[in-house]
Amino acid sequence: MIIINILHIGIDDTDSPDGMCTTYLASQIINKFKDNGIELVDYPRLIRLNPFARFKTRGNGGVCLRISNDSKASLAKEIVLSEVEKLSMFDCDNTNPGVIFYEGEITDEMKDYAFRAIYEFITIDEAEEFAKSVGCEIHKFKKGRGIIGSIASISLPLTDYTFELLAYREPDKFGTPRQIDHDSVYEMDKQTFPDTFENVDYAEDYIAIEPKTPCPVLYGIRSNNVESLKKARSIVEVGEVIDDWCIFKTNQHTDMHIQKASNIGAMKQFGCYQVIGTVKNKPSIIDGGHMFFYIFDESGEIECGAYEPTKNFRKVVSHLRPGDVIRVYGGIGEQNTFNIEKFQVIELNDVEYRNPVCECGKTMTSAGKNKGFKCKKCGRKIKSDKKVPIIISRDLQNGQFYETPVSARRHLSKPLCRMNLN
Ligand code: ATP
Repeated sequence: MIIINILHIGIDDTDSPDGMCTTYLASQIINKFKDNGIELVDYPRLIRLNPFARFKTRGNGGVCLRISNDSKASLAKEIVLSEVEKLSMFDCDNTNPGVIFYEGEITDEMKDYAFRAIYEFITIDEAEEFAKSVGCEIHKFKKGRGIIGSIASISLPLTDYTFELLAYREPDKFGTPRQIDHDSVYEMDKQTFPDTFENVDYAEDYIAIEPKTPCPVLYGIRSNNVESLKKARSIVEVGEVIDDWCIFKTNQHTDMHIQKASNIGAMKQFGCYQVIGTVKNKPSIIDGGHMFFYIFDESGEIECGAYEPTKNFRKVVSHLRPGDVIRVYGGIGEQNTFNIEKFQVIELNDVEYRNPVCECGKTMTSAGKNKGFKCKKCGRKIKSDKKVPIIISRDLQNGQFYETPVSARRHLSKPLCRMNLN
């Protein structure tokens, strides 16, 4: 077996809400690499990190490119640094690019760091110290915050992964309305789902492959394999020139952000977890359309939220009732509320205690405290004041998963159509 020495290149924090996208910058670098006979080892990687990171532009994604560490490595480094200089949105206060070069094997401590970058907050100083300790070459632009994500993008092991095909616009079209034929996107979804997913939210008539920001991306299609992406691309029709396209290997839709919490008390704010709890109260909706309820276990309780953007998911949540045991997946945000991405019903409480029914057919009423029940129609009385257990029918099913709609889905959330893959 030939073991090649790899040069890992990590890039992050080059874009701003006004434009650019680190994946676009990566695709420009890859083109320059091709012009110079530099080939990538494996697909470029798009790695999503902590969804609660404070300075993210959108989805907190960093990029990693891998090439053979041979005589062209120094030329490759020059290309990367000059493209980052040229294309980053330096005018934005929150754009602080960071580039990392690393030669050799990814060590266990680097893998641990990458998971920390998904689960926790890391400071620039911490990242820099760590990068130095493992022998990375560090390039900081402005504050250089991007090194936090760059090291993680290089280091994260992809035990589960998906692909995303990103099609890019001509530069003079950036910021103008995108010309995508929506019918063709529906057709693409029909022909390629569930190999591709997150294309369309049918309930909201929402085309999820089309970004809503002025970035260079025309569309992004997500999939389990490269073949279906190529098929999908041939079906989607657009009314503008596709300047370039690139397929990334990614941790999107793998639930990599979700940690298994042993109980409710073990969870921390700004962490993402799966945890089992019993529903404490009937979910209720507040002004603004957000829906809340509590779950509890022996260690404590936490408020769970299904927010307005989750649309019809709130209807599903409204079917929960006290006593239901569920496993929730999601993250604890700013207000210390568990933001539900999906849940699984472990055991429904299908018993309801009701007043007894009289022999005459009328439901009895309480005859007073500790005085049993009486029938208002025929006057019959019974001494016992115990309500009668009745099995009720439920709109939810034991064992079943329920998820937020595509339009409200997080980059890292594993959709149900992928749940049987791992
Ligand atoms: P896009 O998805 O459009 O590329 P973005 O949402 O990825 O944009 P960035 O511009 O990359 O946003 O900014 C995210 C910043 O957060 C980067 O500087 C990255 O290094 C940093 N970061 C990533 N993970 C963490 C973390 N766990 N703790 C602290 N900072 C982080």
